[in-house]
Amino acid sequence: MKEGERILIVGAGLSGAVIGRALAQEGWRVEIVDSRAHVAGNCHTERDAATGVMVHVYGPHIFHTDDAEVWAYVNGFATFLPYKNRVKTTSGGQVYSLPVNLHTINQFFGKCFRPDEARAFIGALADRTIADPRTFEEQALRFVGRDLYEAFFKGYTQKQWGCAPADLPASILKRLPVRFNYEDNYFFHRYQGMPEHGYTAMVERILDHPNITVRLETDFRRNARDGFAHVFHSGPLDGYFDNDLGRLGYRTLDFERFTHDGDYQGCAVMNYGDLSVPYTRITEHKHFSPWEEHEGSVCYREFSRTCEPGDIPYYPVRLVKEKAQLADYVRLAEREEGVTFVGRLGTYRYLDMDVTIREALDTARLFMERRAAGAAM
Ligand code: FAD
Repeated sequence: MKEGERILIVGAGLSGAVIGRALAQEGWRVEIVDSRAHVAGNCHTERDAATGVMVHVYGPHIFHTDDAEVWAYVNGFATFLPYKNRVKTTSGGQVYSLPVNLHTINQFFGKCFRPDEARAFIGALADRTIADPRTFEEQALRFVGRDLYEAFFKGYTQKQWGCAPADLPASILKRLPVRFNYEDNYFFHRYQGMPEHGYTAMVERILDHPNITVRLETDFRRNARDGFAHVFHSGPLDGYFDNDLGRLGYRTLDFERFTHDGDYQGCAVMNYGDLSVPYTRITEHKHFSPWEEHEGSVCYREFSRTCEPGDIPYYPVRLVKEKAQLADYVRLAEREEGVTFVGRLGTYRYLDMDVTIREALDTARLFMERRAAGAAM
């Protein structure tokens, strides 16, 4: 590092904050810009003024990881309290437990199966005539048969992706999506929890360093790089290049917010598997902080649709067309000297928070090693 060299980071989400902190600690002067009025990106949480409930503004975020270094890292900036994600689904006028498990199977078929009996029963329902599944639908039918597929996978998937599961690749459903026990914790990870005061407070602490300056409500423009030794860009990859090769496809989400006196649904996340219900799920935010007590409640009805210019990009589509387009953008990015594209938008991938932090720590480490060795990036 040369005396006085400055680093520009686009985006004050987890990617930008973690990279910025790592560099700042080693003496770099870091400037972070974000177009939004708050830090923490899509993990942003804020208290609802009327009820006091901590709201996950861009949708529910549960921290889960097997990465001990990442777990130690986040615990250095926030107190994490125990939280297990237990999701329910409404289908055909009944409420079931997800992911599909022994309880779901027994309730759905009106049985009292033990694990081996359930395994044999589902095995007999599975459509073995499909030898080489090419679509999500064929894969699901081959794994679980038509009844479970239609109740728990078909409608939800169609609403989430905006197309029939018969038009999605089989690769989306890699493993048998059924558990033959009563385990309903959504994640298997060793470390799981929720930051006591929300994700934004945690990110504010990551950013709290004398070498870091944050400018909110500031849009990055490509011609604003002058004076910076390097740029880390966690905004959209296609946006950086002014969408010159077309827009990468995303799904966006609309959240219909409503309040309720008392408890609305009794759990944090209720999915809706039926196509007759236009939303995919309802999130009741108070249940993400079970250690707090609130009389009122804040809920989101969540609708998924194609992302249009001006919408927030949430889930990258990454089908055949998008992957080809991405390869063209990656070629452009590789020729762009002095810029590293990071995070979920900069690399056009769905990344969980722990993976985002892991990649950010590794990116910062690699950058500093290469600079110390005198290599350009
Ligand atoms: P972001 O959080 O998107 O941050 C990027 C920032 O860059 C944004 O603040 C944006 O405003 C800013 N920006 C973009 N372009 C510009 C520009 N041109 N100029 C200035 N600023 C710009 N992960 C989990 O581990 N558990 C979960 O339960 C979970 N739930 C999720 C639910 C949903 C609905 C979604 C969409 C994601 C979920 N994730 C979850 C993933 C999690 O949101 C990501 O891991 C995380 O947000 C990635 O951080 P990031 O910094 O890469 O991106």
